[in-house]
Amino acid sequence: MGIENLKPHLIRFDYEVKNSLFPVLIFDRDNTLFDDQGSSNLISGFKWRAGITSLLRQLKELSIGIAIASNQPRVGEGVCTLTELDEFNQYSVSQIQLESECSVFAIACCTHQKNLGCNCRKPNTGLLECIAALDPLMKIIGFVGDSEVDFEAAENYGIPGFDVHHIVGDQAKTRCQEQFWSLVEQCT
Ligand SMILES: [Mg+2]
Ligand SMILES: [Zn+2]
Repeated sequence: MGIENLKPHLIRFDYEVKNSLFPVLIFDRDNTLFDDQGSSNLISGFKWRAGITSLLRQLKELSIGIAIASNQPRVGEGVCTLTELDEFNQYSVSQIQLESECSVFAIACCTHQKNLGCNCRKPNTGLLECIAALDPLMKIIGFVGDSEVDFEAAENYGIPGFDVHHIVGDQAKTRCQEQFWSLVEQCT
């Protein structure tokens, strides 16, 4: 199979039709929204990153929706199944909605092995492109992640990248938080 056939694995969620541009913040999944037991994609390993639920509640107050972009090479490696991935993702979104009522528009995952050269594995931009293609009114405003591939993907796509460690929790940095909230508030 040629690499041009390697497409992101996308789950999209229903939302009310919009009639003007609406802001969407992209989040990485593992070690950003949730602790990294998630990479095994077992619901029993689901655990929030500290501080994330209150961040999501604040975004909900500002009518900012989110989408998730995640590398999941373990699927391609045969370590976990697509069904386990989907079940974990569906469960995660139900927890996000339960805790924050924040709108989640989509989860896009690269399920390919690391060395296949697909365009969806971050730091490539295929996951962001496939989310953006869902709705021409969606305005992707930034990317919150925990690792270099997330920040590089943001840069490659031309949006600001934010380190989750600097936005929530013990390592939060006032200046980064100010930059983050000024970006978010510009969009509301
Ligand atoms: Mg991560
Ligand atoms: Zn991929």
